[in-house]
Amino acid sequence: MNTWKSTISAVLLVSIGAAGQQNPAAKDSQQPKMVQAASSSDEAPSVTPASAKSAPVAASPMTMEQVVDRTIQREHALMGLLRSRTPLVETYLQNLKRDPELGAAPKDDRYFLGRLDMAANVERRDYLSKDDSFEKNLLGGFGKLFKLEYNPMGFSWMIFADRDDFDRAHYDFKYVRREFLGDVRCFVFDVTPKKDAGKGRFLGRIWVEDEDFNIVRLNGTYVPRPKNAYFFHMDSWRLNLIPGYWLPAYIYSEEGDFSYGSKDKVAFKAQTRIWGYDLNKKTHENELAQITVDSVKDESPTAADPSPLAAQREWQQQAEDNVIERLESAGLLAPVGDVDKILLTVVNNLVVTNNIDLPAPVRTRVMLTSPLETFSVGNTIVVSRGLIDVLPDEACLAMVLSHELGHIVLGHNLGSKFAFTDRMLFSDQSTYQNFGFRHSPEEETAADAKALEMLKKSPYADKLGSASLFLKELSVRAPELSALLTPHLGNSFTNDKGQLVRMSALTNSGPELKADKLDQIAALPLGGRLKVNAWDDQVELVKAAPVALLSVRDKMPFEVTPFFPHLTRIEGGSAVATTTAANRSPQK
Ligand SMILES: [Zn+2]
Repeated sequence: MNTWKSTISAVLLVSIGAAGQQNPAAKDSQQPKMVQAASSSDEAPSVTPASAKSAPVAASPMTMEQVVDRTIQREHALMGLLRSRTPLVETYLQNLKRDPELGAAPKDDRYFLGRLDMAANVERRDYLSKDDSFEKNLLGGFGKLFKLEYNPMGFSWMIFADRDDFDRAHYDFKYVRREFLGDVRCFVFDVTPKKDAGKGRFLGRIWVEDEDFNIVRLNGTYVPRPKNAYFFHMDSWRLNLIPGYWLPAYIYSEEGDFSYGSKDKVAFKAQTRIWGYDLNKKTHENELAQITVDSVKDESPTAADPSPLAAQREWQQQAEDNVIERLESAGLLAPVGDVDKILLTVVNNLVVTNNIDLPAPVRTRVMLTSPLETFSVGNTIVVSRGLIDVLPDEACLAMVLSHELGHIVLGHNLGSKFAFTDRMLFSDQSTYQNFGFRHSPEEETAADAKALEMLKKSPYADKLGSASLFLKELSVRAPELSALLTPHLGNSFTNDKGQLVRMSALTNSGPELKADKLDQIAALPLGGRLKVNAWDDQVELVKAAPVALLSVRDKMPFEVTPFFPHLTRIEGGSAVATTTAANRSPQK
C-alpha cells in the first residue's frame, strides 16, 4: 500500500498529452511531461539479433549502377529472410465522402486482420473469418473493393516492390537525388518497368539507405491497370529492427480526388500495419512449455492445502495466465512493457483513492490491434492500441480503465474455463472464435455505475469534462465507424444501432461538443500515441512534437492519417555480422 501511495502523487503531475496533436493555446502545458515520464524509465529497445547481415560488408559501391545492383541484391535477401516468417497484418480503411466543413470525412469503414504467409506465394490467413480461405473471405465480408484490388497479385505487392522480377531486365532505375528520411541518408531512385515487362509491375520511387543499400521506403503503384481490377497507390515504410535488414512495417494507401468536378468513384484512406515477425518461433516454444509446466506442477509437501475459496482464486489465476499467454503468442498482445506501467499507474490512482482491496493486484496489457476495445480476464485489464491512440488525456484513460476495474471489483470474472489448458490449443487465426470476454448487459450497467462512483472519488473527479467530450465525439462518429467500434474479444462502446452505451451517463454533463472550436480536442487521430516494434511486438510511446491545429480539418478524430516514421538505424545495425544468424541468412 505504501508504494501505491507514493506512486499516486507522482502520477498526478503527469498527464497524457495529445502527442502529435495539440490545440494552439495549450502548446506548452502538460504534454511534454508525459513524454518525459515515459522515457525516463525507457531503456533502449531490446532487439533480438536473431538474424544478422547476410553478407559480409562488400566494398562500397562507386557508381550508381553498383548501388542499384546492391539494392536489388538486398531486396532479394529480405525476401529470403521473410520466407519463413508469418507476421500479422492489419488493414483499417475509411471510405470518404465530401463534407462541407471537414473536407474529406469518413463515410464508412472496413477492418481486416490476418497472418501473412510469405513462403512461395504471399498469402494471408484471416483472424476474423471462420473460413481459412482468404479468397472466400474476399468475396464475403471484405467487399467488392478489396476483391478488385487484392486479387491480381495477392498481398505481396504491398510488401515488396516486385516479388518475382525485381531486376534490371524488368526495370529502369533513374537516380534522382540524396535525401534524409529521419536520421537516415538515402539515395532516391525512380523505378519504371521496361516496355513489355509484363503485368503488375511497380511504378514509383524507392528510397535506399546509403550504408547497406536496403530499400527503406516505396511509394507508387502497379501498372498496367488490369481490365477489371484496380491497384491502389501505396506509401510503404520499412524499419531497421534487426541488424542488416529493414522490415516492412507501415503502408499507407489513399485514393480519391475531392477537387470540384472529379470523376473518381473510389475514395478512401487506409493504414496497414505489420508486426509479429518473430512470432512463429516463440509460439512453438511457449506451447510446449505450457503443456509440461502445467501438468507437472511440483507441490511443496510442507505447504497447506488451500481453502475452497483460495483454490477458486488459484483456478481463476491459472485461467487468466493461460489466456494472457495465449493472446501474446497469437501476436495479439504486446509483451509486458513500459506502456503497461502508465496504465497501471492510472488504475492504482483509482484503487488507492477508493480504498479498494483486491485479492491480487490488477495488471494491465496492451492489445496490438486498432479497433477500440477493452476487456478484462481475471485481474488483467486489456486495452487496445487503437483506443489508447485516440484518447486525448489521462482522465479519458481513467474513464476507460475504470469500467474494467468496475468488473474486477464486482467480481464479474469471466473465462475460468480457460484454466483447462486444452482450451489453449488452437491455431492463432482462430483466436477470436475460441476466446470471448463479453459481459451481459446487466453486468455492463453495473460496471459503468461502479466506474462512475470510483471516478468521482478519484483525482480525475474534476477532469471528467474531457471524458464526456470524448464520449460525445464517439457518439457522433459511431455510425460511420462501425468497423473501428466492433470489438473482437470484449464489449462494444455502442449497441447494435450504433448508439453509445458505455459510460453514457457521462455525456449528460460536461462541456458541449463544438466541432468548430480549435482548442477543443475530443479525440485524436489513430496512430498518434503508440508504436509497435514489428519484430518483437513491444509497444512504446510515440515521442512526437505537437503540431498546432490550423483549421477544423486538422482535428481528424478517430481518422486514418499517413505514416511518416522517423527512420533511425538500430545500434550496431549496420556492418555487424553476428555468427549465430549466419546459417539462417537467406543469401550469401
Ligand atoms: Zn464491460
